[in-house]
Amino acid sequence: MARIVMKFGGTSMAGTERIRRVANIVRKQQAGGDEVAVVVSAMAGETDRLVNFCREANALYDPAEYDVVVASGEQVTSGLLALTLQSLGAKARSWLGWQLPIKTIEAHAKARVDTIDAPDLIASLERGEIAVIPGFQGISGDGRVTTLGRGGSDTSAVAIAAALDADRCDIYTDVDGVYTTDPRIVAKARKLKAVTYEEMLELASVGAKVLQTRSVGLAMKEGVRVQVLSSFIDDNATPADDLPGTLIVSDEEMERIYQEGDMERQHVTGIAHDKNEAKIILTRVPDEPGSVAHIFEPLAKASINVDMIIQNVGRDKGETDVTFTVPQTDLARAQALLEDKRDEIGFNRIITDSKIAKISVVGVGMKSHAGVASTMFKSLADRGINIQAITTSEIKVSVMIDEDETELAVRVLHTAYGLDAADEAA
Ligand code: ASP
Ligand code: MG
Repeated sequence: MARIVMKFGGTSMAGTERIRRVANIVRKQQAGGDEVAVVVSAMAGETDRLVNFCREANALYDPAEYDVVVASGEQVTSGLLALTLQSLGAKARSWLGWQLPIKTIEAHAKARVDTIDAPDLIASLERGEIAVIPGFQGISGDGRVTTLGRGGSDTSAVAIAAALDADRCDIYTDVDGVYTTDPRIVAKARKLKAVTYEEMLELASVGAKVLQTRSVGLAMKEGVRVQVLSSFIDDNATPADDLPGTLIVSDEEMERIYQEGDMERQHVTGIAHDKNEAKIILTRVPDEPGSVAHIFEPLAKASINVDMIIQNVGRDKGETDVTFTVPQTDLARAQALLEDKRDEIGFNRIITDSKIAKISVVGVGMKSHAGVASTMFKSLADRGINIQAITTSEIKVSVMIDEDETELAVRVLHTAYGLDAADEAA
């Protein structure tokens, strides 16, 4: 017997017919002898609709009341799923965020889970009841409804799995797993059997959006085993226990997966791309101690995330160019802040370019293998793709290139690292 948390996204919960399919999947899991807690999203589109109501009601809405409104989408689906499970003869009940309770820190509309009191929930599971828990919502220290930020149901599911010390947290979603790269760009992208938390964080934060990034960080911190798998399954589908999706696990479990021969060890696990960054170049900055600090301090104070940074070789007269990237949505703000500090920083011109992309190759395998970066640079050079900046971490190499070359670069690298799926036998 295992204890499993199952999470279903908005597409799976959109309408009573789909909720009935979810109920059948949940029943099947429980019928195998497991204790089952289910976390649900609001129906697809519902949260957007509720957010719009708030905007219409009061453009400067109070985040505490916003939370009251938007948390209601999940209240509806959790009640409907409990009703549907009951109609199938199961014992089921809903547990709203305030009933468990899921205590969060106050920050309305972007709260973080603090503690979850699980004893009543565990007692209920042990009585064979299916617990249905609305994702996204919690309760603040002063007793008000909070929400965890858009996409927060993933984080709810992981937090509940941690509180229940669950054997696995299955996230049923629109895709059937995590791929080596975006299958819309590379037809030969392969579904990964497993990735480590670190790899998933890199793949998620650089653009492979499958789970809310925070949920992966939480899973890593709490050691929750997560599986991403498709909710579009029929009666003949491989059971979740046979791990048809992608497992997100610790380094230690990954080692075991390799040792048992379930997976071939690759240097590179996946390739991500991100078109949402913009480049800023400041020309003729004084090449002296402190000048770089003058540039980045105001940006940090404004919570603008600077990602890639390069300082060019100094020009003759003690001057240098500094290039860096910020999120495209922060470009105008960053530009204004820098203009403000023009005298202090002492640059000559600001040049900006939002037609850039960041391509990243990610893999724990590169910790122990040299040559990953040089393969990247050579493969791109062979295709005439110019690299404008480079950053690396222990498990990632990222380059900045022209946005128009994104698809070509991803394809070239996918092939270069041997990630292409073998051709289907004819
Ligand atoms: N319903 C919420 C949203 O759309 C939370 C979620 O589905 O994860 O952001
Ligand atoms: Mg989601």
